[in-house]
Amino acid sequence: MELKKTINSRSNDTSVSQKLKQQDAINHLISALQTTIILDELVPLFSNELLKAVDHSGVIFENPELGIVFQHGSRTNHSCEYSLTIENNSLGKLTFMRRQRFTESELNTIEQFLSVLLYPLKNTLLYSQAIQFAHTDPLTGVLNRSTLRSVFQKEVSLTKRHHSDLSLIMLDLDFFKTVNDRYGHCAGDTALKDVTQCIEKTLRESDYIFRLGGEEFAILLNDTDLKGAELIAERLRTAIESLSILHDDTQFQLTASMGITQYKENDSLGVIMSRSDNALYKAKDSGRNKVVCA
Ligand code: GH3
Ligand code: MG
Ligand code: MG
Repeated sequence: MELKKTINSRSNDTSVSQKLKQQDAINHLISALQTTIILDELVPLFSNELLKAVDHSGVIFENPELGIVFQHGSRTNHSCEYSLTIENNSLGKLTFMRRQRFTESELNTIEQFLSVLLYPLKNTLLYSQAIQFAHTDPLTGVLNRSTLRSVFQKEVSLTKRHHSDLSLIMLDLDFFKTVNDRYGHCAGDTALKDVTQCIEKTLRESDYIFRLGGEEFAILLNDTDLKGAELIAERLRTAIESLSILHDDTQFQLTASMGITQYKENDSLGVIMSRSDNALYKAKDSGRNKVVCA
């Protein structure tokens, strides 16, 4: 059974007596919700507080606009679903699940709890958006240069723990200045976005793409040795070469050069980057539209 409702910042219409009855639980919830602005903590915390009043097996929070799907607990066959809004702005959808149907009085309690959740949830979403912006390149939507260091450190520790491999590709578009000069800066921006999408489509979801600036990208491939990275880079090279970029009525193509290297024990980010950078320069020097391994 599925029940769908909308809860918004004005839907707090329960009676005074009900409010009094649940005041303790609500007060506790209010204090608890103030302890975090991280979504991955807020949803479980809310679910745990609600468990004191309404039994449920799990909750799912979804916000398609921000690409968020977060599940806490387990899915079961009965559910009630709430669209959460504040002043006509959608915050997302929260679904509660359990084996038995929810009773009317339980739904009332859930709605009481939800009315307290709205503003903390809004703040949490704003915070996660701000974090996302801080890590993201605004033009292409991939990770930015400042995020490379923390991701590299995390991937190095995973590589060491699993005794696996890690490789880095430095990618630079060829004669990109000519693209801007010939077709205009806006066409150049379209090309950057199209190339990024092409890279995203060609790679695995677990790989990381960073725009280092201008028309230069770094790609971190986990669980990949030099041979594997070379295959991937070659696949990227042909995919970019075959890409047809359309801006207004103009259609054009471009190519990319890449330098790749595999992580060696105790490599710092600076060391591994300069090694793949040197390979990239060799790719440029030897005619561009090439992949060179270091
Ligand atoms: P090479 O093959 O040697 O890499 O030549 P190149 O022309 O690609 O390299 P160069 O470094 O001379 O030029 C890079 C150009 O990238 C210069 C700049 O106009 C352009 N560029 C940098 N950032 C952006 C951007 O955000 N949008 C657009 N449209 N162009 C950009
Ligand atoms: Mg270039
Ligand atoms: Mg460059």
